[in-house]
Amino acid sequence: MQSASEFIEQRRPAGGRRSGKRDFIVQVFLRQEGHLAADELVDLIRAEDARISRATIYRTLQWMVDAGIARKVDFGEGRYRFEHSYRHPRHFHLICKTCNQSYEFLSFDIEALVEEVAEARNFAARQSVLQIYGTCVNCQSGRKAERVTAPTEALFARDALRIAIATERSGLEFYTRAAALTGDARGRRVFRKLANEEKEHLGKLEARYRELLAEDPTLEAHPTFLFFKGAAHGLFAAGTAELRQGADDEQALLVGIKCERGSHQFFKRYGDRFEESEGKRIFLEFADEEREHLDLLIREYRNLVERQKARVSRKRR
Ligand SMILES: [Zn+2]
Ligand SMILES: [Zn+2]
Repeated sequence: MQSASEFIEQRRPAGGRRSGKRDFIVQVFLRQEGHLAADELVDLIRAEDARISRATIYRTLQWMVDAGIARKVDFGEGRYRFEHSYRHPRHFHLICKTCNQSYEFLSFDIEALVEEVAEARNFAARQSVLQIYGTCVNCQSGRKAERVTAPTEALFARDALRIAIATERSGLEFYTRAAALTGDARGRRVFRKLANEEKEHLGKLEARYRELLAEDPTLEAHPTFLFFKGAAHGLFAAGTAELRQGADDEQALLVGIKCERGSHQFFKRYGDRFEESEGKRIFLEFADEEREHLDLLIREYRNLVERQKARVSRKRR
């Protein structure tokens, strides 16, 4: 993965000289999580090096915005705040008007709707901003909670893993059921093989999830970052429900193909669009895995149809 300094190096203007002060300001900014007002950054910098002027810090902030290192956000307070864009997945904000804290989240469903609207209006959308103003859970209950900001990238990876794990689990259930109902020996072998693969991958994903928690044990306590209406119960849950209503070998293969295709498209579509991150890698690896399963099922389906045709023509003779 690209390091922060490589990322910044790439964004240095052509012929732009290295500036020790600027690099220092950038490093301090990148150490912060959350949404920083310019004055807050000035305080942080000047606490470490009082020789750096306010004007230099402001200029550097603007440079970071232009270079794509920082994003400017306006929470309607009459001043801008700044957040990282480096390894910081895009997101929407919930903003508490009582304590001025902001909370990040991302919803696939909202993004899909926004895209749909832009497309229908032939609008080349570049960026969409969604801010929900109100009162946070702590302010509602009058509880004074200390400011804990988890790194969005880690929450993103956590939730990406949760979706992938839910999908593996539902896939395992689907193939186990499909293997049990299929009468054809060859079909049964294929479903068993896929059930075993899902089980193995599930184990790997769960290990990865445990590793992530070992790095930051507080991670589990943070609220959901990534919202995904359809995928929460696993993308194969609908397929398993279809099998329950009764299906033969051919139907089971077709339902499997539909689920794997949907799953592949889901993980590929979002994986491609995410910023470089662990969450992106999880999605794209998973998309590849689903693609392989999809190809296998399509081959099996064709094979089954061929065998059925051969059987029919044998009978005719
Ligand atoms: Zn609040
Ligand atoms: Zn933010």
